[in-house]
Amino acid sequence: MSPSADEREPSPVTRLVPRLLGRLIFRSATVHANRIVGPGLRLITLQGPQLRGLRWQPGDKLQIRVAPGLMTTRAFTPTGWDERGGRTQLLVHSLSWGPGSVWARKVDHGDRVDFIGPRRSLDLAALDPADTVLVGDETSVALAASWRPALCVLEVINGHSAQEMLEALALDAVAVERRDGGLHLDDMVAAMLEQAGPQTRFVLTGRERTIGSLLQSLRRAGVAPRRILAKSFWSEQRTGMD
Ligand SMILES: Cc1cc2nc3c(=O)[nH]c(=O)nc-3n(C[C@H](O)[C@H](O)[C@H](O)COP(=O)(O)OP(=O)(O)OC[C@H]3O[C@@H](n4cnc5c(N)ncnc54)[C@H](O)[C@@H]3O)c2cc1C
Repeated sequence: MSPSADEREPSPVTRLVPRLLGRLIFRSATVHANRIVGPGLRLITLQGPQLRGLRWQPGDKLQIRVAPGLMTTRAFTPTGWDERGGRTQLLVHSLSWGPGSVWARKVDHGDRVDFIGPRRSLDLAALDPADTVLVGDETSVALAASWRPALCVLEVINGHSAQEMLEALALDAVAVERRDGGLHLDDMVAAMLEQAGPQTRFVLTGRERTIGSLLQSLRRAGVAPRRILAKSFWSEQRTGMD
């Protein structure tokens, strides 16, 4: 019996098209190192000539192709950019079951990485980091490291290890351990408002549901919407947020 259309090997042309399209859409770099720097957090260093000469600002994102499909990308925030040397670093939280986490756990020295960007994600140009509180979680540490806000308030899996890591990055930060049912959220709000003045801005990142709850708390505390910038980085209800 001859194989059905689904069972036949893809023809060389069928295989070539995604590869050629990929080259048009993505730039590529090489993994220099992948180190565990905290619970589930990996510092991934990318290097290569295609990273040279690109404009990058804190708050920009890179979209990394984390699986073979053309559109399987995940967004990460570079911690910095060596424009002349062609090098950047990502701090990736790698504890979910999604392809982005799997990629971060597996990728190793010498592996090729396809990427799009850097692209604008959070427009921080109008904000003074010295009078801004950055709120988020493990996925926000890269943004904190590059933008250096006055204070970071982060919900984390392991408070002690996270606090150590944040101190090593010389960040003024409060790590609040996640508790079931959002019991830690009041502690986050208290930390956010403790040193805030009447002009202090709040940049909310990380988990969508937490951001929703914190927005309500800030509103109740009388913080005007113009002082708040919010951008969800991930959600239990969605995959591959961009
Ligand atoms: C602009 C932007 C910048 C970002 N920068 C960073 C960064 O610098 N570092 C970083 O680590 N992440 C960053 N993220 C978040 C990262 O893109 C997501 O965590 C990503 O979705 C993870 O991909 P995944 O394939 O593992 O999970 P997905 O396939 O996207 O999601 C599958 C499921 O995994 C769970 N999940 C996803 N992310 C998390 C998480 N962080 N914690 C717990 N459960 C999770 C959810 O239940 C989700 O439904 C950024 C996101 C955006 C939009």
